[in-house]
Amino acid sequence: MATIAFIGLGNMGNPMAANLVKAGHTIHGFDLVTENLETAARNGVVVMANAEAAVKDADVVITMLPAGKHVLGVYKEIAPKARKGTLFIDSSTIDVDSAKGAHAIAAEHKLLSVDAPVSGGVGGAEAGTLTFMAGGAAAAFEKAQPILEPMAGRIVHCGADGAGQAAKICNNMILGISMIAVGEAFALGEKLGLSHQALFDVASTSSGQCWSLTTYCPVPGPVPTSPANRDYKPGFAAGLMLKDLRLAQEAAQSAGAATPLGAEATQLYALFNAMGHEGTDFSGIINFLRGQAGQ
Ligand code: NAD
Repeated sequence: MATIAFIGLGNMGNPMAANLVKAGHTIHGFDLVTENLETAARNGVVVMANAEAAVKDADVVITMLPAGKHVLGVYKEIAPKARKGTLFIDSSTIDVDSAKGAHAIAAEHKLLSVDAPVSGGVGGAEAGTLTFMAGGAAAAFEKAQPILEPMAGRIVHCGADGAGQAAKICNNMILGISMIAVGEAFALGEKLGLSHQALFDVASTSSGQCWSLTTYCPVPGPVPTSPANRDYKPGFAAGLMLKDLRLAQEAAQSAGAATPLGAEATQLYALFNAMGHEGTDFSGIINFLRGQAGQ
């Protein structure tokens, strides 16, 4: 069993750390928010006074932080304090360039490193069924795999440094675009007098089939577990979808890739967020699309 420093004990980090405790690891946790540290302590995490103290005796360091600037800031602070050969795993969703920067800091201090963002949300973090998309050298990935296991349903090694973040934002760009496509189809169907169930029954077994339709249907009824049935309570909040779409746009610009639908989806989610819907499930974009009719 390993001693693991866990930095960033928020909505995702706390349940992930709790699953590592249940698997028998010793977790030295740190967060800036006292309330999050109290939750962590209740889950069996040993709460530390700061990130440096958390890292001191650690075999592995996991970060679960809001954005690239937080990850780079924490890496610069703690990488010089870690033992050589310590494995650093960043599971935050951050921009690809910052992810590569974090790997470079780790390499400079002779540490192993993996970028391993997740999908599956808070529910997946609690259930230990997250999908991890990992980027980094084979030796680092092999060491990371058994550590990730208690938090994971699936672990995919996507390639070299930054490949995990690349896979994450490409996947979520598909998701953002496909949810708008499904929302538009239901809004058009309504105007044409088509029932939600009829459109669902046809499209879910035809070429329009996709996850946004069959698992996360944005109208109440056809898929009883989707957020549409609970007034669009997340789920996956529109604010986080906008964050991921913006990361995809940054990466597309940096890499010179054309993503016109990704750009349009980013704009639509920015407008939806600006109307006060950061905390609404992202499938609620259908209500925004209905509101655009005739404008
Ligand atoms: P969160 O805001 O609840 O948690 C982030 C935590 O980091 C906060 O508790 C904050 O206090 C802490 N933090 C910030 N700077 C710190 C520092 N310097 N030292 C220590 N702690 C610090 O966010 P979250 O929902 O847990 O998401 C974390 C990451 O996971 C994000 O990158 C997010 O995009 C990604 N993610 C979230 C979800 C989701 O459904 N919430 C799903 C997939 C991926």
